[in-house]
Amino acid sequence: KRMGKNRYCIYSELLDAGWVRKRKMKKALAMALLSGQGLDCAYQPLVLAQDGKIIGVEALARWEDPELGSVSPVQFIPLAEECGLIVPLGKFILRRACQEMLPWHDLSVSVNISPVQLCESDFASMILQLLAKEEFPPHRLELELTETAIMNSDTHSKEQLSLLRQHGIRIALDDFGTGYSSLSLLKDIMVDSVKIDRSFVQFVTQLEGTAAIVTAVSCLGHQLGLQVIAEGVETGEQRDFLIDAGCSQLQGYLFSRPLTKEKLAQLIATTDKD
Ligand code: C2E
Ligand code: CA
Ligand code: CA
Ligand code: CA
Repeated sequence: KRMGKNRYCIYSELLDAGWVRKRKMKKALAMALLSGQGLDCAYQPLVLAQDGKIIGVEALARWEDPELGSVSPVQFIPLAEECGLIVPLGKFILRRACQEMLPWHDLSVSVNISPVQLCESDFASMILQLLAKEEFPPHRLELELTETAIMNSDTHSKEQLSLLRQHGIRIALDDFGTGYSSLSLLKDIMVDSVKIDRSFVQFVTQLEGTAAIVTAVSCLGHQLGLQVIAEGVETGEQRDFLIDAGCSQLQGYLFSRPLTKEKLAQLIATTDKD
C-alpha cells in the first residue's frame, strides 16, 4: 500500500525475515554506539614489499553483539550507511585507531571513509579537530576512499579532501580497479596511493590478463608518483609477482590477518627482534 495503488507484491516470509533482521541490527548498532560496547577496531599490517617490514596498519571495524554475535563489516557497514549511523561509527573508529596507535610513532594508520561521511559538510574539520584533540600527527593518517566515492563527490567534498592533504593527511584510492574511470581519477584527483583490489591480486599468478593489468597499473602509479599497494596477498607466488611488478607495499593474510592491538604489539615485538 505504501507504494501506491494498482500494485501487487508477492509476500515472502524470507524477505520479511530479512527486513526484521535489518531493523534489529540497526537498533543494536545504535545501542552499541551509545554505550561504546561491542564495537572495536582490528589492525591489519601493511608491509614494505622489499623486506616485509611492518610500516603501517589498516584499521577495520569489528562488532560483537550479545544477541547477534559477531557481525561482519560487510553486513553492518552498508546498514550503517543506510541509516546514517556510519557518521558516528566512522568517527568512533577513527578516534579509537588514533588513540590505540598513538604510541607506535613509526606506523602509519589507514582508516576507511564511507562516501556518506565524505558528504558531511564538516568532514574535514571533524577530522582535523579529532587529530588535534588526540594529538595524533596528521602525516601518520591515511584515509581510504573508493574511486566511486570520490567520483560521486561534489566540489565541496573534493575541496575538503584537498584541505586535508594540505595538512599532511594522505588519501588512498581503495579497491582500485573495481569502480569506474579509474584512470581519469588518477589524473584529476590528487591522491597519494592506490590500493589494487584483492579481486586482481587473487588471480595475478593464474590469469595472464590480470597479471598484465596489475603490472600496468603499478607502472602507471609510479609514473604519477603514487605509492602502489596490493591488498589481499595470500601466497608467496603472488608476493613475488607483485614485488616484480613494482608494488611498494603489500597487505594480506600471507603477512597477517587483522589483529587486536595486543596481538599487533606481540607481532611487532617478535619481528623487531629478528
Ligand atoms: P576493505 O577496505 O577492502 O578491507 C579489506 C578487507 O579484506 C578486510 O575485510 C580484510 O580483513 C580482508 N582481507 C585482508 N587481507 C585478506 C586476504 O589476504 N584474503 C582475504 N580473503 N581477505 C583479506 P573486513 O575486515 O571484513 O572488511 C570488509 C570491508 O568492510 C572493508 O573492505 C571495508 O570496505 C569495510 N569496512 C571495514 N571497516 C570499516 C570502517 O571502519 N569504515 C568503513 N567505512 N568501512 C569499513
Ligand atoms: Ca580499505
Ligand atoms: Ca580495499
Ligand atoms: Ca576490497
